[in-house]
Formats: sequence, C-alpha cells, structure tokens
Amino acid sequence: MKFKEIPGNEICKQRLIDMVDNDRIPHALLLEGPEGIGKLAMARAMAQYIHCTNKQSGDSCGECAACRQHQALNHIDTFYVFPVVKLDKMNTPPISDDFLAEWKEFLADGMYADINKWATFFNKKNSHPVTYVTESASLLHKLSFTTHTSRYKVIVWWLPERMNEEASNKLLKMIEEPFPDTLFIMVSNNPKAILPTIYSRVQRIEMRRLSDADVAGILESTHSIDPTDAMSIAHISDGNMINAYANIQTDNDANEFFDFFVTLMRLAYQRKIKDLREWSSDLTALGRERELSFYEYAIRLIRENFIFNFNTPDLNYMNRKESGFSTNFARFITERNVEKLIEVFDKARIDIAGNANGKVVNLDVAIKVILLLKS
Ligand SMILES: [Zn+2]
Repeated sequence: MKFKEIPGNEICKQRLIDMVDNDRIPHALLLEGPEGIGKLAMARAMAQYIHCTNKQSGDSCGECAACRQHQALNHIDTFYVFPVVKLDKMNTPPISDDFLAEWKEFLADGMYADINKWATFFNKKNSHPVTYVTESASLLHKLSFTTHTSRYKVIVWWLPERMNEEASNKLLKMIEEPFPDTLFIMVSNNPKAILPTIYSRVQRIEMRRLSDADVAGILESTHSIDPTDAMSIAHISDGNMINAYANIQTDNDANEFFDFFVTLMRLAYQRKIKDLREWSSDLTALGRERELSFYEYAIRLIRENFIFNFNTPDLNYMNRKESGFSTNFARFITERNVEKLIEVFDKARIDIAGNANGKVVNLDVAIKVILLLKS
C-alpha cells in the first residue's frame, strides 16, 4: 500500500512521512478515528514506507523487494495482529497467525476494513472477534529475534480495543519496556475502550471522516457510478466508505425493486395476465428474502404515491426516478384503494415469510392489483 493510493487525510499522511524522513519513529503509534476512512490502509502504507529501500518523494516505490513483500502481505519483519474467533475444534484460544490466509483474503477485498465483514470469515454464528492473551506470547517470541532485512520491526495491530484486561496488561508491558527499533502501529475505531494506561503511552494521530467529494470520487472510480448518483450516496454516508458501499447495495436493490413495481402496475393496468404470470415467476426467482424486501418496498411506494397527490414535496421521500414515475402514476392511488393495496402487499409479505408458494402468492397479488387499480 502506498500513501498516494489512500484518499484523504493528507495532514496525517504528512506527519507519518515526516516521522520516517526525520528518523523520529516512536515506539507506539495509534491511528484513531471513525471506521471506513482508511486507517488500516494508512498503517500498512506507513509500514511499507519504513521498509522501502527506494523511497521517492514522500512515498514508497512500490517496486523494491520490501514493497513487493508488503503488497503480498508477507514482509518478514512486519507482523499483523487482529481480532480472531475461537472455533469449536480449537483447544486453546487462537492467535492471529492461525487465520493469516483469511486475513490476506480480507485485505485483498478492499481498502476499508469492516469488522462485521471480517466476522463472517469465521463461519460461526454470532461470532465476535477478539484478541486473546495467547497473542502476546506469540508476539514476544517474534520480537525477540533480530530483524531479517531491515532496521525496523513493525507490528500493525487492528482494533486493540477488542482485547480483555489480561491481554491488555501483557501488551502494556511490551509498550512500557519497548524492544529497540520496534514500532507498534495500532488502529482503533473506539479508542475509549483501550486500557487508559496503554492509551496514554502511545503517540496518537487522529484521522478524520472523508469529505463527501472524496467519497463520491472513490465510488466513481471503484464502482463506475455516475457523478450525480455518487454524490447523493456520499451525502448520506457520513464520510464513511463502509456506509457508502452499503448504501450502493441499498440503491441497487431499490432500482431492481422499482422496476418490479413499475412492471406490476403497468401490466395490471393493461390487464396482461400472461405477462403478469411471468412477472410473478421472475419475482419468485429473487428468493424469499428479497421477495420480502420487495413487498416492503412496494408498501412504501404506495404510501409515497398517495402522499404525492397532496403536493407537499417536503413529505415525500422518493428518489428522482421514483418521483418521475409518480408524476403519471400517483393519481391511480386514492382514498378508495390505498389501504386495500397496502393490505394486499402486507398479506403477501406474511404469506411468503410463512413459506407459502411464491408464484401463487405473487400472481394472486397481481390479480388483486388489477381490480384495485380500476376501483
Ligand atoms: Zn520500495
């Protein structure tokens, strides 16, 4: 990871670069700030910059042996510590090294590390990754050897707040009596949960939420989203890329559900039973969970269209596409049918949740919509 690959937080970047350039590397650093802003990426860029043998104008070269090892996550003097989960087959609490393969896969997946996504790598229900006390013995062992290729050993420690007191006390010892030429770079979403005695001994660097323009720029380049849509997703993402990616998903779902909704209404209005049968099986093919979400979406859109008739835009929560459709469609949703339509969708939702046959339920919905649109 090179510094220039990481969007935003330029002041923090420069402070880290200066530390290395001026040979003022502390024993322990803490990058703190909200999640989804690239703190772990920044820690990795710092480690790579320290080890790069061909530094160029405030960044690592990306090409020397050390840089290549860093990019492959197998630099010999860099250690990763991250929360893990004790699986049923394990006799003793695990350490980070037990899950290195998963960790590499996780980091390859993107720059913004999401603990909830990491938790899914353990294939265990309700898993809550933590750092166990066994981690410190393993770390002590590694640190007591001399470095192999470079002056510095670097420990990149993701989420030190996920550690119990016993483990924290062992870490505290390592920070109080530091090994020479060893740097801990900790990355925390919730520094308040770190043992105060540790917190007070580390050099802290605060990283800030990304600007909406940064978030939109990242979405445009990683997901080829058009600039207007990227900006509107950025507006509701709070400078947090993890939120932004979740919001894209919601947006994609809404687009798909919107198409299903429009098709249903159009075909029902035209009384095209044969096409509605096809609509019904297409909807079934989405799978139960998404069918349920569709009916929730449909209920919302019926309400919004009813409200649309009152000409009070402040009360309407629809995106551009949805309100464009409402211009022609809203007049069909009136006092006479609004409640009944909602009832039909709500009953479908309950039936599908109760394992009823989707095709039957969906077609039944379509027929009722035909009747209600004409009433
Ligand atoms: Zn290099």
